[in-house]
Amino acid sequence: MATSTEAAAPSEPSAPSEPPTAPAWRQLLGYVRPHRWTLLGGALLALLTGATGLALPLVARALIDDLSHSRSITGPLVAMSALVIANAAIGAIGAYVLRRTAESVVLGARRTLSSYLLRLRIDAVDRSEPGDLMARITSDTTLLRAVTTDSLVGLGTGGLTLVATLVLMGVVDPVLLAVTVGVILVAGTVIGVIVPRINRASKKAQDAVGVMGASLERILGALRTVKASGAEHREEQVVHRAATESWRQSVRAAKWEALAGNTAGLSMQIAFITVLAVGGARVATDAIDIGTLVAFLLYVFYLMSPIQQVVAAVAQYQTGAAALTRIQEALTLPAEPAADPAPLPLPGAEPAELAFADVRFRYAEDLPYVHHGVTFTVPARGMTAFVGPSGAGKTTVFSLIERFYDPEAGRITVDGRDVAHWDIPQLRAAIGYVEQDAPVLSGTLRDNLLLGNPDADDAELHRVLDTTRLEDLVAHLPKGLDTLVGHRGTKLSGGERQRVAIARALLRRPRLLLLDEATSQLDAVNESALRDTVADVARTTTVLVVAHRLSTVTMADRIIVMDAGRVRAVGTHRELVAADPLYAELAATQFLATADIG
Ligand code: ADP
Repeated sequence: MATSTEAAAPSEPSAPSEPPTAPAWRQLLGYVRPHRWTLLGGALLALLTGATGLALPLVARALIDDLSHSRSITGPLVAMSALVIANAAIGAIGAYVLRRTAESVVLGARRTLSSYLLRLRIDAVDRSEPGDLMARITSDTTLLRAVTTDSLVGLGTGGLTLVATLVLMGVVDPVLLAVTVGVILVAGTVIGVIVPRINRASKKAQDAVGVMGASLERILGALRTVKASGAEHREEQVVHRAATESWRQSVRAAKWEALAGNTAGLSMQIAFITVLAVGGARVATDAIDIGTLVAFLLYVFYLMSPIQQVVAAVAQYQTGAAALTRIQEALTLPAEPAADPAPLPLPGAEPAELAFADVRFRYAEDLPYVHHGVTFTVPARGMTAFVGPSGAGKTTVFSLIERFYDPEAGRITVDGRDVAHWDIPQLRAAIGYVEQDAPVLSGTLRDNLLLGNPDADDAELHRVLDTTRLEDLVAHLPKGLDTLVGHRGTKLSGGERQRVAIARALLRRPRLLLLDEATSQLDAVNESALRDTVADVARTTTVLVVAHRLSTVTMADRIIVMDAGRVRAVGTHRELVAADPLYAELAATQFLATADIG
């Protein structure tokens, strides 16, 4: 089914070609460009619909003419019926083509934005609210639909129909045309004042939807904590406030839109009455005949629709421009270069070498330095443990190796090559990373295990399940590997999640394994089993562990002691206990063996 949907969906590349800083209308054209021909087709059909409508008054005039001269009216009647049917049929097809194109524009924007968000740099994500970014993909892009049909096409077809109607009116009677145009100009001025207010209110309404998404994400991401803290009511207030703000601003936009629409409607009523009065006088003085007046009045009547279309187009554009601004804001967040979608060949078993040389790093310009010149080298193969008090900067070492962040100064090299010069996907393909909180994604256990290497075969999968002692778990789950693990793996225990994360990393056949040891997740049996596994892996792979357990450090080939963003000592457990007071203290107080959640 997925493939058939894919086949039916437009497959043209949909990335906007405009820079994210270009004005909203150019951005919009950027999204519309791939669909310009279908859009033009739809617009032509809409115009044709308008033209069939415009021909009606002329036929009506002929009909009245025939009637007043006692001629047969069969011809004009047939012509009118044909026009009405053609109008309905072409109108329906045109509406479908336009709507389909508009949906394709929305699809293009959603694809562009979601691809971009997956490439966002971690520091950009640190500064954003995921719920707000989600609202930009789901809610703001939806607004592009109305902009494409109502705004672009409305302005095009409505504008053209308007001009055509005015020309025909001029042909019928220039004096009455002048009267009509005068009324329209006054209304246009009023609407021009209203329009910017619609834009401002719409932007605020969409921003509030973003805030609402962000608070919902915050709550659903930690619903257990919210409930346990009895904070439901306060959190509810936050969401409600954002929802109310969006309502307030949307109502404001609606008020201005209604006023603009009504001004247009009112101006047409006034034009109708004025034309009737002036036209009546002209009929009385024999300047025009009654047929001409009827035809002109019908044109005034027909003018209503294109004028409302143009006004709606301008108003709708304001809402769409607000949404486009929000979409473009997301597209200006710093991102990693686009990666080749083809899967990378998993690297061979050659273990990686790693070196930090005088690395200085802080998470943001307004935050203190986390690394004040970190220097160490790790040879290929073997296990290196990072030890130190919480906040020393150990986890940050891993984030820098993965290039989630870039250092401000100094060099990080893998295999002697600066990581800044590595192709990021290539670099990450060489690394298996087990984060401390061992994140598990919703989906099946199999999805989670194969996340880093979807091509791993069953034999490999079972070998890794065996080494991470997950076979038992899988055997007891109702659907085995195809059991759903729940949002963020809530159906698994902390220890199970960690073993899943380790299995996932091992399946990548990494040349460098980064293991941020959880503190109290594993029971003694599983811990010792995993220790053996890691020791085994370290024979063929470079393993880096942020260690919290004495058992881990005692088996490490070398230990790097970090404190306050610096490396203060390197050695084996035995050497360091004798040589480094901080390490000796950590070891003596069993700090390493007990819980440290830094
Ligand atoms: P360790 O692993 O040694 O406990 P970390 O490397 O996790 O230490 O953190 C070092 C410091 O960096 C801490 O003070 C922490 O508050 C800060 N820090 C960690 N991650 C971020 C982040 N994403 N943004 C800002 N500061 C961070």
